[in-house]
Amino acid sequence: MKTLLIITAILAFTATSCDAQLRNPNDMRIPAHKMPAAEYQGDRIVKSDSDWRRELPELAYLVLREKKTEPAFTGPLNYNEDRGVYKCAGCGLHIFHTDQKYDSRSGWPSFFAPLIVENVKLVDDDSYNTLRTEVLCPRCDGHLGHVFDDGPKPTGLRYCINSAALEFQAVAE
Ligand SMILES: [Zn+2]
Repeated sequence: MKTLLIITAILAFTATSCDAQLRNPNDMRIPAHKMPAAEYQGDRIVKSDSDWRRELPELAYLVLREKKTEPAFTGPLNYNEDRGVYKCAGCGLHIFHTDQKYDSRSGWPSFFAPLIVENVKLVDDDSYNTLRTEVLCPRCDGHLGHVFDDGPKPTGLRYCINSAALEFQAVAE
């Protein structure tokens, strides 16, 4: 019985992997068996500005709530090469993973894809007379950074994210 269960589990896993590959070969989301957290479920975290200001470190508040950009090459996570998950510093939602991080030499942590596509919210941003695409946390609406179309394969995207908007959690794999 135990053997049968193990075989069934292996078959189920194989079928899931193949199915995911067939549906979209460019889908770079983390396979379910490696997923450290559940997909964003649509819940919202809403707090007053004074609550955010009190709860967040100053730089995280300025980035997440006032959409400021940290100076290039100053954020510690820009250089982080440990394996793990990058969470929203405002609410803890898992946003990015080491498997999608790369060195863009821009001075900010850069990713070619989010951990799960539903875990980022993209909106047009025409501030500074430039049309860009802003990256927000879908749960707390925290400003994370911007996404550009000059990234590497397979997506061609560069999620340029403020280190101060993220919290890193190492994951044993
Ligand atoms: Zn958040």
